[in-house]
Amino acid sequence: MSMSRTPSRHSAAGVGCGRLRFGAAAALLAAACLIFTWRADAAGARFVFLFIGDGMGAAQRNAAEIYMAGMRISSGDAVPREYQLAMNSLPVSGMIRTDSLSGTTDSAAAGTAIATGRRTTNGAVAMNPDSGEKFVSIATLAHERGMRVGIVTSSFLQDATPAVFYGHAKKRTEHASLGLQLVESGFEYFAGGGFRRPSGGSGRDPVELAKLRGYRIIRDEAGLRSLGPGESAIAIHPGISAGMMPWAIDEKPGPSLADFVRAGIRLLDGEGGFFMMVEGGKIDLACHANDAAAAVREVMAFDEAVGAALEFQAARPDETLVVVTSDHETGGMSLQETAWESLKFYGLLSGQRGSHQAFERTVSPSAKSSERDGITRAQKFFGPAARATDAVRMAWKMSMTAKDKRPAKSAEYKKLYGPYDPFTMACMREMNASAGVTWRTFYHTGADVPVSAYGPGSESFAGEYGNTGIFDRLRAAMSL
Ligand SMILES: [Zn+2]
Repeated sequence: MSMSRTPSRHSAAGVGCGRLRFGAAAALLAAACLIFTWRADAAGARFVFLFIGDGMGAAQRNAAEIYMAGMRISSGDAVPREYQLAMNSLPVSGMIRTDSLSGTTDSAAAGTAIATGRRTTNGAVAMNPDSGEKFVSIATLAHERGMRVGIVTSSFLQDATPAVFYGHAKKRTEHASLGLQLVESGFEYFAGGGFRRPSGGSGRDPVELAKLRGYRIIRDEAGLRSLGPGESAIAIHPGISAGMMPWAIDEKPGPSLADFVRAGIRLLDGEGGFFMMVEGGKIDLACHANDAAAAVREVMAFDEAVGAALEFQAARPDETLVVVTSDHETGGMSLQETAWESLKFYGLLSGQRGSHQAFERTVSPSAKSSERDGITRAQKFFGPAARATDAVRMAWKMSMTAKDKRPAKSAEYKKLYGPYDPFTMACMREMNASAGVTWRTFYHTGADVPVSAYGPGSESFAGEYGNTGIFDRLRAAMSL
């Protein structure tokens, strides 16, 4: 890590500059000081980005970094693995514990801790589901103080992580209520995914209500580009499925997460400052499915969004705080020795042609195709490392068995395939293992997750602490 980027208000350089303020060489020295220190008299961070990579532990970040190094080496660059990711280059790093009052956390309880500084049980959105007490989020505090607020996610807008910032619910599945609370929040910008309609289709349409409240509804790139200062908007990716943005690895047309962040910066920027939360929501889903190639691409898309915030920060370093963290780790991802051979790692993972979901759709007992045909198609999709092992053949038979005839409740079946298509899982497992990636579970783990920060107040994010500490530190940094 380069020491020249380490921020400290208490560094020797900072003190020296103060003393020399009126000296002949002071102007030059003072300019140099700005590189090393932030203004000690700063009233707090006025432009604040909080990035949450859902399910993103240290291994997920490492995997993306190795992949990117391999990608650059394959195109002729001689690069070290370090700092391929913008988030890994931030000068302050810490770790947070993630457990909730229920034990291993879900995104609702972890999000609640990060957003409100209060712990709760799994499934609850920014409240105590037993007493009914509602917790106030950092976004709401910022909004009450006159800052503009943006909530950006690649998942759907009422999903747990975005919802803890604007709403409250005893259960995270109360999508109808959360959709209305989103509009009622008055936050200026919601973007990325769309709304998930509650089953039964009852209740008021949040999009119609939002229009009545003066939000512009944007559904294409031209609209996104047209957004400017002072507006309020809900910007939804044109290719959403189940309310979520498409998988980065599927390379569908439309804005990237970084594009939504850039548009948000234009819309939110102003004298009063802003707070923007950005979630990489599908890192978690890729890791639930043990799909390393999709996870890496989601982390990269998320990191590109971090890069967009850092571009803004470069212009206003004294006033801009960027914090990148996660709510929990998903999958128990671990990198074995071969994973550190970045060129091979990149070669294997970049050979996967799309997300596990894209392949899963092509596997069906009703298609009546042969095992040989299935394996040929799998090797085209996942690469030759998806070898026809006994495990892959057994999974093929299972996938060709009608769903209601599979032993889906047996412990062994659940351990091998979880809720996913058996053949897809087995093929990915072969390919991932060749690349040096192994997984322990289809669910969340209790692992600590990294925090990276840069900007005024970022020093306080160093060290190890509970996830509620993110709220405390943001609040202090923003003087709220
Ligand atoms: Zn999850």
